[in-house]
Amino acid sequence: MHIDLSGKTSLVTGSTAGIGHAIAKGLAATGANVVVNGRSQGKVDEAVAAVKKSAKGGTITGVAADVSTAEGCAALVKAQPDVDILINNTGIFEPKGFFDIPDEDWQRFFDVNVMSGVRLSRAYMPAMLKRNWGRIVFIASESALMIPKEMIHYGMTKTAQLSISRGLAELTRGTAVTVNAVMPGPTMSEGVKTFVADLARQNGQSEAEAAANFVKQHRPGSLIQRFATVEEIANMVVYVSSKEAAVTNGAALRAEGGLVQTIA
Ligand code: NAD
Repeated sequence: MHIDLSGKTSLVTGSTAGIGHAIAKGLAATGANVVVNGRSQGKVDEAVAAVKKSAKGGTITGVAADVSTAEGCAALVKAQPDVDILINNTGIFEPKGFFDIPDEDWQRFFDVNVMSGVRLSRAYMPAMLKRNWGRIVFIASESALMIPKEMIHYGMTKTAQLSISRGLAELTRGTAVTVNAVMPGPTMSEGVKTFVADLARQNGQSEAEAAANFVKQHRPGSLIQRFATVEEIANMVVYVSSKEAAVTNGAALRAEGGLVQTIA
């Protein structure tokens, strides 16, 4: 299978680092035009330069905007009024016991992880339906199904993304637009590297030992028994964004190393 998305324009939120950055590179390698997004202009410029190295003829541009606010989303849509492929990737996580999570954190997690995708889908999806082609992908998490007891607020946002994604797919009936969610498991992104480095420091271990122990202790159900690479997650996202994935719609696709034990 050869995925060719030349002529299509994609936007990946939160793509200056981590999974989003790998998705931006993966889409660039299919010939798609890619719009990179992050909060700071400097990081966006750096990311655009890095993604350009993977480009296969598409244009690579960037917009600095904070997608956790209504104003930030509006500024992003103003700068890039139309896209064929929207990847709602931006997301934050932080382990914190339920009894220590204040209202502000619940609201912040909801704004960053959920409302960013709601606002951008509301802005971009009508033109996709009108054109009769489009892809929206929400980067959820296996934590949508296996709510982590150390960050219930994060789990809540990821379950919400599955709900919104499935609901939006219902609006695509009879068109060639699809809306899906991808659920990564533990993945060695920039954010997770910092988290693992902290664990290593706290426990007097090397980072490799801390990563291996984390999977063994906290994700014992993982069949791959390791963190995924960001490229391994991007592969699934690029596929579901492709023309070849035309009949996958309304799905919550797993890229979680077999952590979730149920079959369906
Ligand atoms: P990361 O922290 O490595 O990168 C996040 C990116 O988003 C960065 O580029 C950051 O600058 C950007 N960003 C953060 N807040 C933003 C905002 N308000 N506006 C614009 N950009 C913003 O994160 P990651 O680990 O790659 O996670 C990406 C997505 O994947 C998230 O939705 C996360 O929940 C999901 N996910 C990650 C893992 C994992 O183990 N890494 C597992 C499952 C799901």
